[in-house]
Order: sequence, then structure tokens, then C-alpha cells
Amino acid sequence: MTYSHIIRKTLNIKDKNIHFDPEHYILPDETLNKITYKVLEATLTYTPKACEKCGTVNQNHLVIKNGRKSSLLKLGTVMFQPVRLRLWKQRFLCKACNQTFMAKTSLVQPHCFISNPIKSHIALELQTIQSMKAIGDRVAVSPHTVMRILKTVGETLEPTRHALPEHLSFDEFKSVKEAAGAMSFIFSNSQTHDVIDIIENRQQSRLIAYFQRYPYTLRKQVRTVTIDMYSPYIAVIEQCFPNAKLIIDRFHIVQHLNRALNRLRIEVMNTHRYSRPTDYHKLKKQWKLILKNSWKVDFETFYTHRLYDGLVSQKIMINYLLSFDEQFKWVYSLINDLKYSLSVGKSTQFNHHLERSKDRQLKRYIRTTMQTLEKYSGSISNSCTYTLSNGHLEGINNKIKTMKRSGYGYRNFRNLRARILISFKLTEKQDQFIRPVTFEEERELARQNQNAA
Ligand SMILES: [Zn+2]
Repeated sequence: MTYSHIIRKTLNIKDKNIHFDPEHYILPDETLNKITYKVLEATLTYTPKACEKCGTVNQNHLVIKNGRKSSLLKLGTVMFQPVRLRLWKQRFLCKACNQTFMAKTSLVQPHCFISNPIKSHIALELQTIQSMKAIGDRVAVSPHTVMRILKTVGETLEPTRHALPEHLSFDEFKSVKEAAGAMSFIFSNSQTHDVIDIIENRQQSRLIAYFQRYPYTLRKQVRTVTIDMYSPYIAVIEQCFPNAKLIIDRFHIVQHLNRALNRLRIEVMNTHRYSRPTDYHKLKKQWKLILKNSWKVDFETFYTHRLYDGLVSQKIMINYLLSFDEQFKWVYSLINDLKYSLSVGKSTQFNHHLERSKDRQLKRYIRTTMQTLEKYSGSISNSCTYTLSNGHLEGINNKIKTMKRSGYGYRNFRNLRARILISFKLTEKQDQFIRPVTFEEERELARQNQNAA
């Protein structure tokens, strides 16, 4: 093992063509913008396999060394001190075409001063929730550079127009400040839970235009789309995915039912506000108990509760709360029947209970809720047959929320989108910056140069 090899190993430089002279590879420290850098020196040289300009294979000393040129690169940090590398790059002369070209390395891209490992590291750091300034400070680059890397990496993660999974999930999240109140659209593969893309505006026309950019043959193959109960999506799906079955996310149906039940609770509560203040208080405090699935309510454990006299169980408390109002009690059991049939995936039962809701006169908004569910009953029965859901998108949306809160530069939707794509999609392409240039690519580069000339 040579000294040069040891130094390379220590600095984690993969390119074997970079040589350190053990006698004087350390130059005096340099200070730039109040940061003191350790400065190292190395030479990049090798025997090229072919001429980069004309593509002729290098035989019988066709390509010869022809001077060198130095550039100052940023490496990462060594023991918390940022390091710069004065790299002397070999210049080559091809005797066949009489042109010169510079030595290439996987350490850094041509005409660039920030080494590839720093770029990859920044890309990985961008996956976690922190400000771009914090990332820049840690590797001694400006926030502007971090932003630029965010952009370029984001671009490489753009979804392709040549693939679309069979099962999709649609959801939305609150967008950036500029479009106040506007919702952005996110869609994913509902089987693997991979994020596919984010679209700034969830307007129907925008979404249709977006999806129609995918070839028709691909769109025909989409089998299911899982959505919440946002009706404009339905037209999008009908127009863009002719064979897709609609699935209403179960969580959203339950949420819909719970909202109606909660509203009724508040109404009952308010009628007792002045006549029975203690009962008002119980209804106000125990909203969670009312929304709890009735088949999960504990009826065996008795304990003391500060709102009640003597020993009570959850079941007893609920029965007490429901006893205030006849309709409240009836709706409570109806909604729980609906939730239960949904949880066990029995859509005929679900429809039966919906039908049953017509037996009685109900408050306007509860009737509306039932009518909405009836309108979607086909899709709801699909959600009982498929196990797909939008649950994973809720988790993703939570992460987006914290990402936005960490702020810094998301007044622009494109930056936020790039950050989201990096955060959820980067893993597949992690090594894109560290990969060395292969011989085939060298030839390919030469061919391109030749065509351009
Ligand atoms: Zn040549």
C-alpha cells in the first residue's frame, strides 16, 4: 500500500488516478470568507484509452501528455475543518486529430469546483428536515449552492412519462404561501407507497391536462385510483383513466361520518348549556368517547371519574351522554353500524344501513352526509374489496408540513417540489454523482463532440 493510497483512503477519494506526493501534499492553510481551509495538493493523471475528441483508440503513444492545469476544489471536512484540494489535472494531446483535452475524474465534474461527494452529501442532507443554510454551513458552501444542488437533483427525479403504476392514490396538501389557501396535489403508487409527483394546483382542468401527457396505452392500464371524497377528482379519473375503478379511502369515509356525529353532539350540548351545566360539561369534555368506535368501547373496567359520581365504565358514560336526546342516540348507533360494516369490509351491510337511515326524519346535515355516501356507494363497495388506502399519503403529507415549517426558500413551489421529490425518491439514484466515468461513456462523449464539431 503506497502513501498515496493511504491518503486517498483516508479522504475517501475513490478515483485511483489521483496521486498524492507524501513529501508535500499539505499546503499552508487558507482563509476565505472567515473560514479557514486545510489545503491539500494532488495530481490527476492516467493513460487515456481513447482520444476524447476524435474517439481514436490510444495505441503506440498516439495520445501524449501535454502540460497540466490546476484547479481548487472543495472537499468535505476532515476533523471538522473544511478541506480544499489543489488538483493538477493532466492535459493530453492527440496526435491523430491534433487536439487537446483534460483528464477527467469521478471526484468532480468538468469546470466545477465543488466535488461530487459534497454534492451527494448535500442531496442526502436535503432529505431530512433542516434549513438549507444549516446544510451549507456544515460543508462550507453557500446556501445558494445548496439551492442549486436542490434544483439539479430535483430535475433528475422528475417522473418519467413512460411508466405509470396500476394502482394510484390521490391526495392534496396545503400549498406554499403565494397561492394562499390553494391546495396542491400529490399522487403515489398505492401498492408500493412511492410518491410519483406533486402538482401545484389541484384544479380539475390542470390535473386533466397533466395526466393527458401520459400515453393513452399507459393510462388504460390503471386499474384503481384511491381518493378522498373530493368530487372534482372523479371527472379527472373518468377522462384520464377509462378503466380505473374508483376507491374512496375508508379513513375519509369514517372521518366524514364522525364529523356529522360530532356536529350533532355539539348541538345537543348547546341545548343544555344553561339548563343542565354539568351535563353540558360532560358532553363538551367527552367528545373523544362519543367518536370512539362503539364495538371498541370498554364495558368491563369500572373506575372513578371526576365528572361522575361513583364507579363508572366507558359504556355507562356513553349511555348516559346518549340518553339526553332520542335522535342523538339513534344516529349514534346508525353511524356505528356504518363504521362497523366498513371496518369488516361488508358493503351490502353498509348499503343496508344507509337505506335504514331513510326510516327517520334526520337533521339536514346528517341527511346530506347519508346522501353523499349513497352517491359514492359504488366506490365505497370497491374500497371494501380492495385493501388499498390513502393512509400512507397522510404520513407523507405530515412530513411535507414539517418541511414547510422549517421554511427557508419555499415561497417558490418549485423548490418545495424538488425538496419533496428528493426526500421521497432519492434512494434509487443515490450514487449518480459518485459514479466514475466509464470507458464507454468516454467514447460516447467523443462521438458527441465529433458530431457537434
Ligand atoms: Zn484525437
